[in-house]
Parts: sequence; structure tokens; C-alpha cells
Amino acid sequence: TVRTRIAPSPTGFPHVGTAYIALFNLCFARQHGGEFILRIEDTDQTRSTPESEKMILDSLRWLGLSWSEGPDIGGPHAPYRQSERMGIYRQYAEDLVAKGHAFYCFATSKELDQMRSDQQVRGETPKYDGRGLKLSDSEVQQRLAAGEPHVIRMKIPESGTCQIDDMLRGTIEIPWEQVDMQILLKTDGMPTYHLANVVDDHLMQITHVIRGEEWIPSAPKHQLLYQYFGWDMPVLCHMPLLRNPDKSKLSKRKNPTSITYYRDIGILPEALLNYLGRMGWSMPDEREQFTLDDMIANFDIKRVSLGGPIFDVEKLNWLNGQWIKGLTPGQLLDKILAWRGNREKLEQIAAAIQPRINTLSDAIDWAGFFFNRVPKVGPEAFASKKLSEEQVRQSLQLAVWRLEALISWNKDSVSQTLMTLAEQMGIKLRDFMPAFFVAIAGSTSSTPVMESMVILGADLTYARLRAALE
Ligand code: ATP
Ligand code: GLU
Repeated sequence: TVRTRIAPSPTGFPHVGTAYIALFNLCFARQHGGEFILRIEDTDQTRSTPESEKMILDSLRWLGLSWSEGPDIGGPHAPYRQSERMGIYRQYAEDLVAKGHAFYCFATSKELDQMRSDQQVRGETPKYDGRGLKLSDSEVQQRLAAGEPHVIRMKIPESGTCQIDDMLRGTIEIPWEQVDMQILLKTDGMPTYHLANVVDDHLMQITHVIRGEEWIPSAPKHQLLYQYFGWDMPVLCHMPLLRNPDKSKLSKRKNPTSITYYRDIGILPEALLNYLGRMGWSMPDEREQFTLDDMIANFDIKRVSLGGPIFDVEKLNWLNGQWIKGLTPGQLLDKILAWRGNREKLEQIAAAIQPRINTLSDAIDWAGFFFNRVPKVGPEAFASKKLSEEQVRQSLQLAVWRLEALISWNKDSVSQTLMTLAEQMGIKLRDFMPAFFVAIAGSTSSTPVMESMVILGADLTYARLRAALE
């Protein structure tokens, strides 16, 4: 049976690209009566966080994508989180060494830095030079016995070309000299993505790997690993990446890329899924509005077109409008309530406006900005008597960068970030904050701004600060 997977790394916010790839994996599996599963690739322990994993799972669920095995629901190949499978990988790496397909390397990072700078001086592209291969067996045994830190790297053919079969692209040729002797097991004994990914796809009986085209350069290593292990390789399919309207790779500097942003501005999950289904794919009758079930019923991966699909927020808005128009008023009300009718959030807003209102009807004026997309203000609203235009811009820009790096979003983390920034810029908080009030609430007379940012959430806060910079 067909088995596909989405294998996100929980190192940040839930990317729309992850949902797009998950959608195509799910459709492919369902259309073949197979299974779609979810695996968390958190071997990079310094960048992976439980918060990120939770956001990714919640977002995929919100979209209505469902998996039949995963870290949240278990399954026959559990555990589905690589950090809980750490005992598995070392034996496979050592097995490859025993078979002569991989080798130990004891080079320190200082030594490798030196190697790369020497190569650069000679005008070469820096690349691991295979020094570990030159060690004799006895030297290796001796250094292992002495407990010297080491990694395990895979061997790569020195010449010739690797041929990769791709479901959409046919045969892709990559010269072996462009492929590095990838580390499989790191000094700390942890596997790299490449080793863990191949081992797990094999153990979890994945038949088709549908993923973004950014993984094409890794495919030769993966194919070689399957050969080294003597395992059947899943069929590969590299999907075109999503692009900004200017054709560059979709990036948060040009378009919001977090699923939670689209949820928070009031895009319906059905509409976002529908829109992602239109990225490089279309229904046989070219109809623009369709449900997930329609897509599964009509799915044919061969109809994916490789020209980079453009993720255009304006088109998504339009499609969302079509979905909204198709609802009954009662259904629309339910959608609005589900979006912002959440009591907990409304109570936070009530608490924030309480000291400022005299009648209940004042509430709308004071709370309106929590519901808008971006407050409408011109550049003059940001003018300050105390700061230059450049200082205002700089404070907003630096704040966006620092706030985007926060893992937990709460009053302490947000206010700490802004207070530290003001201090480092040598600006009094009272002169620093007005631009933030304007960006977030549209005016300087508003509920306390750091609290408002917390209530609004990270995505809408970034979007408003970015809008202020445009
Ligand atoms: P940004 O440039 O906005 O920071 P990124 O490339 O750093 O994005 P990652 O956090 O590396 O984003 O990616 C998260 C997930 O989203 C990965 O699984 C990646 O494959 C996917 N992804 C990122 N960009 C795209 C894209 N343009 N199209 C499709 N998938 C993408
Ligand atoms: N963990 C990888 C990612 O974040 C998975 C890539 C793959 O599908 O092989 O995209």
C-alpha cells in the first residue's frame, strides 16, 4: 500500500509550505487508498522546540489535514518523534562503517576551518577533503579506544554522475563531485537529518517521498544510503516551491508565511487549503473553488506543473470571499464566533479597555483595532518630536527582527525585548513607544501597547510592524 508522510522540523512557526506539501502527500495517499503519516524531525536539538511542534500540529489540524499515525496518536511504527528514536540510528551508521560505506573522522572544527580557508586561498570551493579516509584501521581503533571525539561520514563516489528518478521531473543528473561526504552521525552521537530521514522512511515503510524541490541536492546522498543499506528506495517527487508575486522564493520578508497569520486575519481553513491546492495544480475542469474531498477525488500528481506557483495574498483573499459568500448567515456567524468569539481572548480585550470606557458603546472604538487587519495610518502618524524619522524606522525594524526570534510570546518576553532595545538605542521608553502604539493600534491613545501585542498574537504584531515599515 501507498504510504506518504510529512516530516516537519519543529524549528519555527508553522510554514504554509509545510501545509502545501502535507496536502499533496495526503491527496496522493488517499487517492491510492493508502496512508498519510506525520513524523517530527527534531534531531537538531538546539533549534527544535516543543512550542513549534505544537503550533505545527495545531495548524495542520486546523486546516483539516489529518494523519493516521503520528506523535500525538501513535501507531505501529511509534515513536514518531526522532528525538525519541535516538537509540536506533547509531547502529545503522556503524553498520555502514563495517560494510566499508562510511568512515570515522576525528578532525576538530578548528582543523576543518583551517582546511576550508586553505581551500579558499587556493581559489577552490570549500569542501571536506576526505582526510578521515586516509587513516589506517589501527589508528582509527586506537583513537576510538582513547575516546577521541569523532563523527561518521558517508563515502561518495569520486567521479561520474548520479541519476535520480523523480516522478515529475524524470531523470535528474547530478555530478558526484558536487556531493559532499555527508556527516551521518555527529560528535554528540546524534544522527543528521539525512541518516535519520532515510532510516525512518525505511522503517516506517514510506513508499513515496513528496517534498519541496529544495531537497533535490540531498537526493543523491539519500539514494546512495538506500543502496548501501540494501533497501528499496521510495519513489521521489520534488514539488515546486511557493513563490512571492515577484517570483522569488516565498519569504516572510515579502509575505507572511505562517499558517497562524492567515488564521488570525480571518482566512477560512477550507479556503486556505483550497488555495494551496491551486499551487501548481488545478482541477480537471479548472474550477477554482473546491473542497479537500473534491481534490482527493480528482487528484493526479502528474498534473502538477513545475513553474513556481505564486502565493498571492490578494488571490487568497478573493477565494476566501467566495467561500464566505457560499455560507448561510448562520454559518458565517459561527465562523466569526469561532475566529474571535473565543471567550478567553475577548475577556483579555475587555480587561484592557475597562479602565478607558464609560459606556458599553465606547467599547467598539477602543477594541476595534484588535479585529482589524492592519490599522490605516499614513507615515505622518509616526512623526515624532523627539526622534528622527530614521530612528523611528530603525526602532521598528530592529523590534520586528528581535520579536520574530522569540519562542514564547508573553508579556514578559515582549516587554523585555522592547525595553532592552530602547535602552541599547539610547532612547527613553516614553519616546520609543509612540511609534509602536501607532503601528499596532493606529493611534497613540490606546490600551497599553505591549499588552495589546500579547493579546493580538505574534503574527498580527509582526504584520503590523512590517506594514508600518512599508
Ligand atoms: P524563510 O525564508 O521565510 O525564513 P525558510 O526557508 O527559512 O523560510 P524553514 O523554516 O526553513 O523556512 O521551512 C519550514 C518548512 O517550510 C520546511 O519544511 C520547508 O520545506 C517549507 N518551506 C519553506 N519555504 C518554502 C517555499 N517557498 N515553498 C514550499 N515550502 C517551503
Ligand atoms: N525535516 C525535513 C523538512 O523540514 C523533511 C524533508 C523531507 O521531506 O525529506 O522539510
